[in-house]
Amino acid sequence: MTVLHNNLQAETAAVSALDYLPVSQMRDLQLARLLATLRRAYERVRLYRERMAERKATPEELRGLEDLARFPFTVKNDLRDTYPYGLLASPLEEVVRLHASSGTTGKPIVVAYTQQDVDVWTDAMSRTLAACGVGRGDIVQNAYGYGLFTGGLGAHYGAEALGATVIPISGGNTDRQIMVMKDFRVTAICCTPSYFLHLLDRAAQLGVEVCELPLRVGVFGAEPWTDSLRRHIEAASRIQAYDIYGLTEITGPGVASECHLHQGLHVFEDHFYPEIIDPQSGEPLPEGQEGELVLTTLSKQAMPMLRYRTRDITAFLPGSCPCGRTLRRICRIGRRSDDMFIIRGVNVFPSQVESALLAVEGMLPHYQIILTREEGLDQMEVQVEVTPPLASDRVAALENLHNKLAHALHQTLGLRVKVRLVGPQTIKRSEGKAQRLIDRRNT
Ligand SMILES: [Zn+2]
Repeated sequence: MTVLHNNLQAETAAVSALDYLPVSQMRDLQLARLLATLRRAYERVRLYRERMAERKATPEELRGLEDLARFPFTVKNDLRDTYPYGLLASPLEEVVRLHASSGTTGKPIVVAYTQQDVDVWTDAMSRTLAACGVGRGDIVQNAYGYGLFTGGLGAHYGAEALGATVIPISGGNTDRQIMVMKDFRVTAICCTPSYFLHLLDRAAQLGVEVCELPLRVGVFGAEPWTDSLRRHIEAASRIQAYDIYGLTEITGPGVASECHLHQGLHVFEDHFYPEIIDPQSGEPLPEGQEGELVLTTLSKQAMPMLRYRTRDITAFLPGSCPCGRTLRRICRIGRRSDDMFIIRGVNVFPSQVESALLAVEGMLPHYQIILTREEGLDQMEVQVEVTPPLASDRVAALENLHNKLAHALHQTLGLRVKVRLVGPQTIKRSEGKAQRLIDRRNT
C-alpha cells in the first residue's frame, strides 16, 4: 500500500514537473523530440517526405528550434486528401484508437492514436484539469460528447488519471444533467460554454439554484468564447470558469489551458510545439504580435502533425506567469479565421458581437447573427433575446434597449447592423457547439 502510494505521488510529481521545467531544459527537450518527429514523419509518411523534398529540407538540417520555420506547413485539406489513413506513421496494428471530426463540409478528418499517443493525451488532459484546479476528491460531470468527437474521452481519461471521480454523462438530456449535478454533488463540469449557459437557464426554470450547489469549477472549451462571457458565467453561477484549448488534428482537448490566474493559456509545449505566424506571409512573428497559431506535435507516434495551421488567431504573452509554470502562454482565442465573415467590406468575428452585446447592462449571451443578401447588398441582423420589462413604459424601455445594443454593435464593429429583439427561449439552444452564425447569402 505504501509502495503504491509512493508510486502515485512520484507519478503526480513527474506530471507536474514538466509544467515547471526551467526554460533552457524545455528547449533542449523540444529540440530532441522535434528532430525525432521530423525523422519519423520523413521516413514513414509520403506526403511529408514529398513536401520536404519540394522545399529541399531534410530532418538533419534542424540544428535549432528556429530552423523549424524552413519546414512545410500542414493544413486541414491535407487530412481530407489523405482520408482516412494516408498520414499514418504507424502500422494500423499499432493503432488502438481512431477519432474523427465531421467539420462543416465534405469528408471528415480522421486521427489515429497508438497506446503511447493515448497516454500522452491523458497526460496533457490531466495537466489541463490540474491547472483548472481539479484533482482527487472532485466529482467531475463530463458533459462533452462521447464518441468520435475527442472532447468526451479526452476529458474522461485526464480526470481519471488525476484520481477524480468521473461521471461520463456525455452531452444532451439537460434535465438529467441538472439532476445529476445536484444529486451527485458535482464539483466540476466539463462542457462547451454555450451548453453551460443552457444548463444555467434550464436549472433556473426548474427552480434549481446552481449558486447553492457544490459546483465550483467549469472546464470550458471546444468553441471560442469571450472574457465577457466568463464574467457573466461566473457571476451567474459563482463558479471559476476556465478556458481550455485543443483540436482534433493535434490530439483533442489538452493542448493548452488557463491556470487559476486566467492570464492566457499555458501550452503543454513538451508535447505540442507552438509558433505564431503571419497568416499571409507564413513568417513566424515575435512575442506579443497577433497571428495564426501553428502547432507541431512532439510526442505523437501514429499521426505526427508538422506545422499544422490551426486558423486560430492569438499571440504569445510576454513574461512569465506568476503561477510558476514556465510553459509559454497564448492569449485566449476569441477568433478563428474560419469564423470570420466579411460584410460590406468589413471583417467581423462572432466574438466581437458577443463582447458588444454583453457590454450592455443586463444582457444575456443568447444571440444569433443572420446574414442575408437583399438586392445585391449584404445585410447583417443580430437577434438578441430579451426579457420583456414589466414596467408600464414597456415600449419605451425596449426601444431604449434596442438603441443601446445598436450603438454598442456600431462602436465595436464599425458597421451599422440591424438589431432584432426576440422573446426568451426563441433562439435554439446548443447541446454542443453553439451555432452563432446563419449565412443565407448564397441560398
Ligand atoms: Zn499560470
